[in-house]
Amino acid sequence: MTKRQASTEIANQAPARKPRRRASEASAEPVVERVPRKRDVRPKGRQADFVVIGAGSGGVAAARRAAAHGAKVILVERDAIGGTCVNRGCVPKKMLSYGAGWASILSTCLSHTGGKEDWRDAIVRVNAEVARLNASYKQRLNEAGVEIWHGTAQFNEVGDIVVGNEVIRAGKTLIATGASPIDLPVPGGELVSSSDDVFTWQTVPGSIVVIGGGYIAVEMASILSRYGVKVDLLVREDRLLPKFDHDISAALAEALVAKGIRIHFRAEVTMVSQSNGAFDVCYTQEDNRGRTQTVRAQAALAAIGRKANVDGLNLDALGVERDKKGAIKVDRQFRSNVRSVHAIGDCMAGNIHLTPVAVAQGRWLADRLFGRRGDLADFDFIPTAVFCEPAIGVVGLTEQQAIEAADGKTDRVRTEIKRFVSLENRFGGMPTQSVFKIVFNARNDRVLGVHLMDGAAPEIVQTLALALRLGVKASHLKTTMPLHPTVAEELFG
Ligand code: NDP
Repeated sequence: MTKRQASTEIANQAPARKPRRRASEASAEPVVERVPRKRDVRPKGRQADFVVIGAGSGGVAAARRAAAHGAKVILVERDAIGGTCVNRGCVPKKMLSYGAGWASILSTCLSHTGGKEDWRDAIVRVNAEVARLNASYKQRLNEAGVEIWHGTAQFNEVGDIVVGNEVIRAGKTLIATGASPIDLPVPGGELVSSSDDVFTWQTVPGSIVVIGGGYIAVEMASILSRYGVKVDLLVREDRLLPKFDHDISAALAEALVAKGIRIHFRAEVTMVSQSNGAFDVCYTQEDNRGRTQTVRAQAALAAIGRKANVDGLNLDALGVERDKKGAIKVDRQFRSNVRSVHAIGDCMAGNIHLTPVAVAQGRWLADRLFGRRGDLADFDFIPTAVFCEPAIGVVGLTEQQAIEAADGKTDRVRTEIKRFVSLENRFGGMPTQSVFKIVFNARNDRVLGVHLMDGAAPEIVQTLALALRLGVKASHLKTTMPLHPTVAEELFG
C-alpha cells in the first residue's frame, strides 16, 4: 500500500481507492515529444518491430511476450542471458544462502559429525544452476521466435540501433539494461569488491569488511559469515535496512551480532588502502568525536546502492531525459520523452529494483504495444524479502509510514508484535527469536503492513501480499484456523 493510499484511508475511513493521475501531472514523468516525420534517407538495416536492449528478467519477458503477439523481435545482450537476477543476483545469492543455512544446522545439531558447508563445493552447484537457467532462457526465447544478438547496442538516432557493424531499424525500442553497483566514492574505493565479484570467488577470504546497510550488504554479510568468514559490517546510518520497520531492523542487528558479525553503526568510510595482501578500511564515527578508526581484513566489499546501466547507449544525443542518478524518466506507460523509446526495470527512474516488478512491466508493455492492453499488475503491495539469516519478509507499510500516512496521528495506527523461538531453532539449539509485527488501521482494523523475521518469512509474506491486497482485517486473522505446528500460525487464531 502506498503512503498516499493509506493516508486517504486512515483519514476518511472510506474504502481505499486508487487516485488517478494524468501522466503529465507528475513532475517525474516527461511529456512525450512528437517528432515530425522527415523523409527517411537512412541506409537500410535489419528491420524489426521491437528491439529490446538487455536480456535480463524484464527484457526477456517483454521480448517473449511481444514475439507471442507476432512481432518481429530482436533482443540484444552483451553479456549472459538472464541479467543480474540469474547471473549475479537473486539466483546465485539464494542458492549460496541455502548452502549456508544447511551449514548452520549441521554445525549446531551435527557438530559431532563435523558437518560443514564448503564454499568451493557450493559455488560449483550455483554455477551449474546458473548455466542451466542461461540455457533454458535461450531455448525459450528461440522457441518464441526471438532473435538474440550478442553485442553492445548504441543508438545512432531514434529507431536506429548499432550493434557491432550491423544496424537495426526498429519500430519501437525498449531499454531494459538494468543497474550495476555504485563505486565507493572515497580514495581507494576502486580497490573494494562488489556483490558481482563474490559470485566469481573460488574461495572465501578469512575476513571481510562489508560497507553498506541495505539489502545487499546485509545479505552478503550474513551469507559470508555462515561460510566461516569473519565479518565487520560498516553501516553509515544508525540502523540496518533503513527503509524497513524499526523493530525488525533492531531485531535483525541483535540476531546478526549474536551470530558473530561485528556491526559498526554511524560509520562513514573515508579511505581504503591495500598492503601486504590485506585491506585497511578507515572510517569516522560521530559519537567517537570523529576520530579515524581502521578495520583490517583480507577483503573489502561495498554494497551502497546501484545505478542505471545507460552509459554508451548515446541517450544524450537522442535527448532522452534522465534523473539525477542517470536513470531514464518514463511516464505511466513506460514511454520516455522520445517517441518509441521505452524503459522498464532497474534502469528506469523511480522504480523498485525487484525482478518480478521488471517482469510485470515488460509483459504489460509488450501486450500494450503488440497485443491487447492487459491489466497492469498491482504495484501497491509489493512483497519483499532480505535473504539473510534469519530472513526478513515484508509487505505493506511500516509503523512509521502508517503514522505519516495518518498525518502523524499515532492513535490511528495499532501494532501487534510477537517474539518467539521457533521449533526449528529449538531443535537446532539456537536461541534466535523470530519476530512478527503487524501494523493495523486502528479504526477499521485493516492490516496495513506485515513485517516478519524468521527463516520462513519470505514464503509466508508472498501469500499475505494477496490478503493485504484484498483488504484483510484483524478479525480475519483471528478467525482463520491456524496450521499447527508452523511459524505462520503465530499470525492467526
Ligand atoms: P540499498 O539501497 O538497499 O542500500 C544501500 C545502502 O548503502 C543505504 O543504506 C545507503 O545509505 C548506504 N550508502 C550509500 N552510499 C554510501 C556510502 N558512500 N557509504 C556508506 N553507505 C552508503 O542498496 P543495495 O546496493 O543493498 O541494493 C540495491 C537494490 O537492489 C535494492 O534497493 C533492492 O531493491 C535490490 N535488491 C533486492 C534484493 C532482494 O529482493 N532480496 C537483494 C538485493 C538487492 P543512505 O540511505 O544513507 O544513502
